[in-house]
Amino acid sequence: MQQLPEAYRNQMKTMLGDEYPEFIESYNAPRTQGLRLNPLKLPAGEPFAETVKAQFRLEPVPWCDTGYYYEGDLRPGKHPFHAAGLYYIQEPSAMSSVELLGPEPGDVVLDLAAAPGGKSTQIAGKLRGEGLLVANEIHPARAKILSENIERMGVANAVVTCEPPDRLAAKFPQFFDKIMLDAPCSGEGMFRKDPDAIAEWSPAHVAMCASRQADILREAARMLKPGGTLAYSTCTFNREENERVLDAFVSEHPMFEVARTERIWPHRDRGEGHFVAVLRHRGEAGGGSAAAAAGKAAAGGRGPRRDPAAGALRDALALWEPLRREAAPELELAAGEPLLFGDQLYWLPVPAGSAFGQARLAGLKVLRPGLHLAGVKKGRAEPAHALALALPRREDSRGVWSVAAGSAEAAAYLRGETLAAADVHGWLAVAVDGFPLGWGKASGGQIKNHYPKGLRWMT
Ligand code: SAM
Repeated sequence: MQQLPEAYRNQMKTMLGDEYPEFIESYNAPRTQGLRLNPLKLPAGEPFAETVKAQFRLEPVPWCDTGYYYEGDLRPGKHPFHAAGLYYIQEPSAMSSVELLGPEPGDVVLDLAAAPGGKSTQIAGKLRGEGLLVANEIHPARAKILSENIERMGVANAVVTCEPPDRLAAKFPQFFDKIMLDAPCSGEGMFRKDPDAIAEWSPAHVAMCASRQADILREAARMLKPGGTLAYSTCTFNREENERVLDAFVSEHPMFEVARTERIWPHRDRGEGHFVAVLRHRGEAGGGSAAAAAGKAAAGGRGPRRDPAAGALRDALALWEPLRREAAPELELAAGEPLLFGDQLYWLPVPAGSAFGQARLAGLKVLRPGLHLAGVKKGRAEPAHALALALPRREDSRGVWSVAAGSAEAAAYLRGETLAAADVHGWLAVAVDGFPLGWGKASGGQIKNHYPKGLRWMT
């Protein structure tokens, strides 16, 4: 491992005192690796979860009931179950923040700094398809990866945006029940995993991170409903970026209190290191506010509007309905509304009683306005990749071609190859052990491969 900066060693010595030798010794141990099973695909009690646990010799993470450790040589990220969204590879200590935030089905949740999507997909698992997740990432390339991960995990009730926090805050004043802010930080808890974080570390870099964190936290707070909960987390041990940012924030925002803080240490716990604080707004839960009402008015509410695109939407839905019956007969859509984005049809999640709607997204960079259902072009509809991943496990049913996860056919499909198949016709979800990977179109004894080119496995 790269040499640790002297200023960092001194800082940790001061912080840890007698524990410092044990802490520094932990840098000689291998890093911990983990994954989280996806409750949207493997809900509690689903027997197939045992197959996955046995396959990767998983051991439970104490602070997350869907989290598990695995040994490095097993490479679950290279398995077809990963492509099917059965789990998300995530460093175990990073699983703590969402557990402490505690999202529940029906909540309206924001993940403000969300890429690549570890916390967003964990939040979505806890929402169980009910409520709304807005997953935002400021950097476009990272937002694209976030969007792909949301898709792979089969999340239907998420909107993915790519905006700086202040622009989002202007659109969503006092809007969210719960907010996750996993802030960009100096990454002291990443040193075993990421040598670049060591090279980048300096007291000046820490100070820059702290100032940026304070700015982002201020914007996050503007978007929380009275009585709401905000989790602030970092993967750094540094007090300047954790306690001091929070102290300054609370003294500037007397309506907030720090309800709880947790630190995970590599020498005490089995994890790389993480910090989480739960902030509560003291206002009355569910209480309206002038700012929220103003936000509603600014967003145009959800009342009837004259929509020049209504005809195009009607045509798209007419193409979609027969496709839905053929390719996704068991699809259940949550409360929401159809939305046409160019020639792409989406299902925008609009939780009951929420002021969320299409108008709210106007003027924002939106990568994924909900569940992508289909492309509708030249009088034809094609199912979207996201739709396959959002379908429940389907074995031996109409519209599915399921192969064993360890089979040559599974690997061939993921490489983009055509499959041989008799007696089937039309759109099929190609699946491993019943879990859809993507689409194929069968005719003449073959299944033409529709797995997205950008996701295909290299030979
Ligand atoms: N929550 C993510 C997860 O669990 O996968 C990890 C988030 S990472 C620690 C912090 C994110 O903040 C990065 O994706 C980074 O691009 C983003 N970021 C950087 N500068 C930012 C800023 N000024 N405002 C908001 N987000 C920023």
